Amino acid sequence: MSDVTIKQLAKVLDMSVEKLITQLDEAGMKFSDPEQVISSTEKVKLLGFLRRTHGKREGEEAEDSSPRQITLRRRKVSELKVGSGRGSASKTVNVEVRGKRTYVKRSAMAEDAEGEAERDEAQAKLDAAEEARMHEEAQAAEDAQRREEEAQRQAEEAEAAAKAEAEAAAKAEAEAKARAEAEAEEERQRQAAEEIAKAEATEKSEKVHRTEKADKADKKADKPVKADKGEVQTDAAEPSRKRDAWSMPVMPRLHEDRPPRRERVVSEEEARGKPAKTAAPAKPAAKGKTEREEREENARKGKGSKRFAGGELHLSEADRARRSSSRSRRGRRQESRGASSSSGPHGFSRPTAPVVRDVPVGEANVVSELAQKMAVKGAEVVKALFKMGMMATINQVIDHDTATLVVEELGHNPVPEDDKGAEATLLEQAASYEEEGEKVGRPPVVTIMGHVDHGKTSLLDYIRRTKVATGEAGGITQHIGAYHVTTPKGVITFLDTPGHAAFTAMRARGAQSTDIVVLVVAADDGVMPQTIEAIKHARAANVPLIVAMNKMDKDEANPDNVKQALASQEVVPEDWGGDVQFVPVSAKAGTGVDDLLDAVSIQAELMELTAVADGRASGVVVESSLDRGRGPVSTVLVQQGTLKRGDFVVCGVEYGRMRALLDETGQQVDEAGPSIPVQVLGLSGVPEAGDDFIVVADEKLAKQVAQERQQKRRETRMVSKANRLEDIMAQMGQSEQQQQLNILIKADVQGSAEALRESLSAIGNELVKVNVVSSGVGGITESDATLAAASKALLIGFNVRADASARKVIDTSGLDVRYFSIIYDVIDQVKQAASGLMGMEVREEIIGIAEVRDVFRSSKFGAVAGSMVVEGVVKRSKPIRVLRDNTVIFEGELESLRRFKENVEEVRMGTECGIAVKQYNDVKSGDQIECFERIEVARSL
Ligand code: GDP
Ligand code: MG
Repeated sequence: MSDVTIKQLAKVLDMSVEKLITQLDEAGMKFSDPEQVISSTEKVKLLGFLRRTHGKREGEEAEDSSPRQITLRRRKVSELKVGSGRGSASKTVNVEVRGKRTYVKRSAMAEDAEGEAERDEAQAKLDAAEEARMHEEAQAAEDAQRREEEAQRQAEEAEAAAKAEAEAAAKAEAEAKARAEAEAEEERQRQAAEEIAKAEATEKSEKVHRTEKADKADKKADKPVKADKGEVQTDAAEPSRKRDAWSMPVMPRLHEDRPPRRERVVSEEEARGKPAKTAAPAKPAAKGKTEREEREENARKGKGSKRFAGGELHLSEADRARRSSSRSRRGRRQESRGASSSSGPHGFSRPTAPVVRDVPVGEANVVSELAQKMAVKGAEVVKALFKMGMMATINQVIDHDTATLVVEELGHNPVPEDDKGAEATLLEQAASYEEEGEKVGRPPVVTIMGHVDHGKTSLLDYIRRTKVATGEAGGITQHIGAYHVTTPKGVITFLDTPGHAAFTAMRARGAQSTDIVVLVVAADDGVMPQTIEAIKHARAANVPLIVAMNKMDKDEANPDNVKQALASQEVVPEDWGGDVQFVPVSAKAGTGVDDLLDAVSIQAELMELTAVADGRASGVVVESSLDRGRGPVSTVLVQQGTLKRGDFVVCGVEYGRMRALLDETGQQVDEAGPSIPVQVLGLSGVPEAGDDFIVVADEKLAKQVAQERQQKRRETRMVSKANRLEDIMAQMGQSEQQQQLNILIKADVQGSAEALRESLSAIGNELVKVNVVSSGVGGITESDATLAAASKALLIGFNVRADASARKVIDTSGLDVRYFSIIYDVIDQVKQAASGLMGMEVREEIIGIAEVRDVFRSSKFGAVAGSMVVEGVVKRSKPIRVLRDNTVIFEGELESLRRFKENVEEVRMGTECGIAVKQYNDVKSGDQIECFERIEVARSL
């Protein structure tokens, strides 16, 4: 390098001449003229000076700005497919490898050590001496545990010692120790590196043979080990050079502050709650080596691979090393497992061809059951259904055709279900019995029908009052829906159910309960619409009529008029040459009632009614209800056989053991023969009027049949939504004549009922006429519902609700029930429906019902109703109504909704909660709180 001037140098260095001169001055070289020549020696001198001054400063700056230590973490997740060894399904094991390595800047450490050493030089020396002694002890010690601890301590002390040494002109003794320590450290690092290398090898190739892998891993491990060694040796032997070496921006690894920690997330191992073990820290060289050698030996011999045969997860060498402490125990276990499933490379053999199963498909198939039959998961079937365009849940019932399709779709063979079920077994039993039994005469069963207010109830009351043998308790008779009277000519059973509904309902279910219909016609009123309806019913059921011309005590009574009108309905009196008996009676005065009973007996004789009197009973439900004290109470009419106390019966979808039989006077009876009605206790639920009942051999069969029926009923319920307002309207639309929209009104007070009846009756145009079938006060009862169903009427509940049994009927017959609280809304909706107007309609949807169980007083909220949500969900933000006896007594908002003292937004069915109603404190136990929302729906016809 030739000599240059100061100016030239400044230009090269891209700095001002003045600054360069100043720097040279600082370096102890005097220059004043920019044109002065600067020699190479001087330049080197300047550079050395600058390095010393600036370099240090810069180094310090770098130390401040750059981190003193860097920790690298690596997390690798890979998946292993492992055969379970038992079934065809393989499971996937997630393998997670975590590596952590911390690099500490050497200069930082050195500085720390330096400071320490300077402060405590004497102490350091003492430590060194102490440590030397310890080291000797360590070498002598045989116990692995102790050696481990010792080594750790030595590592720390050696470091301190080494540093102390560096600063305080090391003693030979301490240096030797430091070297030994460095060796320990080196060994430790080597092990760590080895492990990591092995883990990498494992990840790279899961399939590589164990031995190969071990070899590879070792090879890989060699390199980093050497590198580490070099560094550490430098560290220990030449501590004085540390600072210069480490002032460089790149920070080679000095020290692993913690041995690399790796976790392997292995389902089985982790599931047992085994804590992830960390690699053994700073194991003395001797032990580490022996262990490694041992491992390598094992790997070569292929010992390990045997342990993990049978599709068991492959563990890397490193892992096994880590788990060496629990090795023997687990090894044994794995060995046994390996042996048991060592039939193939993965412990099981995959079926060579798909298994095609014959899957029985019935009329109704629960998805989950279907899946079970095909030996697939429910979700598979749901998926297949979804692909076929059907949204189904695993609990859903799918019909025969869909089931067949989905079974085929999944590659199986659908076959018709040959299992006839419990029902068929039951029928067989009943049939065989009926054939065998000896038939004897039985009393006739009579139903009284007729137009409203023509005196049906009065007539029945009179008969019951005068003819039923009352009990000794002052002649209190119970209303059980049916009773039998004894006349000189024999027993007659009357079914006493309101309106035509029961008759119709029973007939609708195919239950023929009535032998004779007594048609009550008020002689002063004549034939009316419901009279004609009754005739139609009777004729449809093929039941003979007897006409009771009632109210004969009245002056206006005109029996001939009645006869005439009925004759035109093809009900021709005997004295006019027909076959129908006409009996003039007065339910009020009681005249002619005996004649009527006689007429019934004669008719019954003509019909030669018979039944099998012995053996198992069967019959029909006349009426049923849920009694608070007694549970489900049903009146049944025995039609065949004899019902005895203690019998097991199936009754509709219910079943149970007959705990008690009660007659119409409330007396306990032991049995009931054909045509005798009894009230029964002990059923599992409330059956419906018209449901049949049959005595079965044992409870198991009873339960089975009931369950099967329940299932069937659920299915049919889904499709029978024929009576909705829209459907009624749609049907009307098909005809040219003026149609009738039947409406049944129930309201909370007479005034509302009347107002609604009047205003709704007035609605109508040339196409549609609104006909109020019935209106009354109080909750919607079962008979209201049946009447509505029979007359295809729309049920309107104005501030009243349907009771439980009514809801049952509404559900089964798919009735349309609308609840209102504003008269205008009712009129508006009916008007819209009648005129077939399309548009938006605001409907109230009841989203939840809570039953008040108990009422507490709270200083903050007043009365708090401890309630149970029995239906849907009660939401705090929605309006509510308080109902008592199915009648609305308050409408408002919730003040608070709580569960266990916590405010909640909503409470679901089957959950208890505390409800406070805003501005209403009169909640009583037994009230219902209904939560509703108003939704706008598009009207559709
Ligand atoms: P239902 O609607 O057919 O059950 O008729 P009811 O039995 O309720 O009777 C309606 C009304 O007719 C009641 O006020 C009875 O008192 C009255 N009634 C019933 N039978 C007779 C009768 O034979 N003579 C008179 N005068 N009134 C009767
Ligand atoms: Mg009546």
